[in-house]
Amino acid sequence: TPAPIAVIGAGIAGLSCTTALQQAGMPVQLFDKSRGPAGRMSTRRGEGWACDHGAQYFTARDPRFQAELARWLEAGVAARWAPRLQVLGGLGEHRPDAGIERWVGLPQMTAPARWLAAQLHVTLNATVTALRRSSDGERAPSWQLHTAEQGWLPQHFSAVLLALPAPQAAALLELHAPALSERCSAVRMRGCWALMLQYREPLELPFDAAFVNRGPLRWIARNSSKPGRGGAETWLLHAEAEWSEAHLEQASEQVAALMLRAFAEHGGQAPEHWTLHRWSYADSAPALDAGCDWNAEAGLGLCGDWLHGGKVEGAWLSGLALAEALLRERRPA
Ligand code: FAD
Repeated sequence: TPAPIAVIGAGIAGLSCTTALQQAGMPVQLFDKSRGPAGRMSTRRGEGWACDHGAQYFTARDPRFQAELARWLEAGVAARWAPRLQVLGGLGEHRPDAGIERWVGLPQMTAPARWLAAQLHVTLNATVTALRRSSDGERAPSWQLHTAEQGWLPQHFSAVLLALPAPQAAALLELHAPALSERCSAVRMRGCWALMLQYREPLELPFDAAFVNRGPLRWIARNSSKPGRGGAETWLLHAEAEWSEAHLEQASEQVAALMLRAFAEHGGQAPEHWTLHRWSYADSAPALDAGCDWNAEAGLGLCGDWLHGGKVEGAWLSGLALAEALLRERRPA
């Protein structure tokens, strides 16, 4: 049997790539540093509440992703979200868009990823910190992985596919593939502060979600207005990218206070409790449209949102594109 392929990163890109390879009959193993799959399609759970604090919803414009969404709907792990949507702070970057359909994981954003992962060989709590290529340059590529938790893993892989944010991929490729590494380093990814708010009673605001075009906030959502969400009334605030970057090192209390003050300007009350999360690599400015990157000689590949439009849909398509690129030369006879 051929050596398996390693995919690093069980976000939606890595899951899409691994699924496509497995369906084509390739042996493939997926690794992620976290306790669960989903990456930035994530949900934070607290006592009696839960809140999607990464991706808020996704679109499905490409027919292939529409077909995938149909499978998710069929499996009951996604649903349409039709919030009462406003644009606050005047017209700017975000404009009202009535035509668009918005989709979310059901009953939380992680659901599609968990559903995909359940059908794959996934190793969690595995933080890949280095790659090692076997010394013989003439033979087909053979790679080993070093993880923070287990050291060098004994398995040999015929390819390593990195489904990671660009800066994390750059770090792993520095030693063996400087050109690929530089390509990743050229992409700037920006941070984002996410503030989750818990209330005893529903807030009486005239919207369930809002794009914000002025001040520190960019997005406000009543998480409990998404389908299937139980538990306490929960709201989510995302800070604007430049503001987040400027305040990334600031103390949590100060960041939360500034974001709450901005929410109050739009009618938001002070919450019972708040929980703050700092995303180091939320989005790419701007994202590329290459689809993916596959170096057959080295047996190294890249996929992820930053290579294909910077959103959930693009990430899924990027993972598929990388699997297809690899399969074009390696499809089992
Ligand atoms: P990720 O989801 O980041 O997956 C990468 C995975 O790699 C992670 O699971 C991580 O744990 C793992 N990993 C990292 N380093 C290592 C390592 N060394 N070893 C092992 N594993 C590792 N998109 C939309 O479509 N709509 C939105 O409304 C939206 N809003 C967003 C808001 C925020 C705040 C954020 C953060 C993102 C938002 N996005 C949105 C973007 C969307 O979440 C991403 O485009 C998409 O989820 C990226 O998927 P990915 O698989 O490329 O990367």
